[in-house]
Amino acid sequence: MSLTAIYAKKALIGEELQVLEDACILIENDLIQEVTTQNEFKASGKEAEIIDLGDKVLLPGLIECHSHMALDARVPGHLGVIDQSECEHTVIALKGLEDELMAGITTSRSLGDRRYIDVTLKDQIKKGKVTGPDLLVCGIGMKGRHGHGIVGVPHSGVEEFRKTARENMFRGVDVLKIFVTPGAPARHAEDFIPCFISYDEICTVVEEARALNIKTAAHCIGGKGLEYCVKAGIDCIEHVYSITPEQVKMVEEEHKGWIDLTSGIVLDPGREPYLSAAHVQNMQAGRAYSKECLSRVYQNDKINWTIGTDAYHGLLYKELELAIACGAPVLKTLKGVTVNAAKMCGIDKEKGQLKAGLKADVIAVDSNPLDNVSVLADVSFVMKGGKVYKKL
Ligand SMILES: [Zn+2]
Repeated sequence: MSLTAIYAKKALIGEELQVLEDACILIENDLIQEVTTQNEFKASGKEAEIIDLGDKVLLPGLIECHSHMALDARVPGHLGVIDQSECEHTVIALKGLEDELMAGITTSRSLGDRRYIDVTLKDQIKKGKVTGPDLLVCGIGMKGRHGHGIVGVPHSGVEEFRKTARENMFRGVDVLKIFVTPGAPARHAEDFIPCFISYDEICTVVEEARALNIKTAAHCIGGKGLEYCVKAGIDCIEHVYSITPEQVKMVEEEHKGWIDLTSGIVLDPGREPYLSAAHVQNMQAGRAYSKECLSRVYQNDKINWTIGTDAYHGLLYKELELAIACGAPVLKTLKGVTVNAAKMCGIDKEKGQLKAGLKADVIAVDSNPLDNVSVLADVSFVMKGGKVYKKL
């Protein structure tokens, strides 16, 4: 039995990310054996290899709730690469994966790639042949024949959706992804938002996923499509840039699942250099209205939400800063990439907290992120599944 004890000044532990002073996280193989204090551990007489992180603050490895392997939103014109070869996509993916892990992301949910590279990479990471976060993958994203979804593949009619859903599940995906609406946010409350997938098609995907007890996720900015997603029982609705006050109420009362927020692509002008001129125009035109819409979700204490970047690899902390700027409570924001993110992904029995019995995904930063989330920009120590990938 080989034990490792990580010492740090503080750790954010358990479901509520409570502060534990003079913390000791005891690791056995790939699991957390015990969360205790340094004094208690010393008094126990147990022998362990000590990793002393001094004044650092420990927290669970971060969960990126919305990424794509073949896209890198840090590169100008990145949306143009989607028709490149499998090999080119893999090269892009390897860099993004490594950068995510070095930024403290120990789990990443990839929501649409071509040719099942996400499924292959998940397997290669599991085997230790590729460095990156543990992946949750969706395989082929399904869009309407006439609809949006740059990484998606066109579908028409329930049988086409059913066929791809089953092919995806045959390949071993964790979640089925559909693209219900356009990508660009509405500019005003009166704007019409098209819906490219019918209610029956959405229900078919949900029915197929439920038959194997896997999750569903829908790209949906708002409009009629949002009502369809809630009614059909989609587990996680992505983006909701253009959700109306009435729809917030509907989600609050009827949606049993989650909302995953990826605000940066619309709200962060820092991402404009990486988008085409047409995209920049769309984002600028929808920015003020989206901020209004998203703020209502961030500030709603009855809605369960999580946070993702949409392929801005390793820059998850920027999304947390934006959430807080939109009025999100700090604790819920941090839970949105740890405890609650694990619940949304259906992996909370193994990840998302510093707690005995869970995977030893542990990261360290300079000070308490609940005082200032920006400290997550500089993650100085990363352990995933008991293995150290970044040390002081
Ligand atoms: Zn996406």
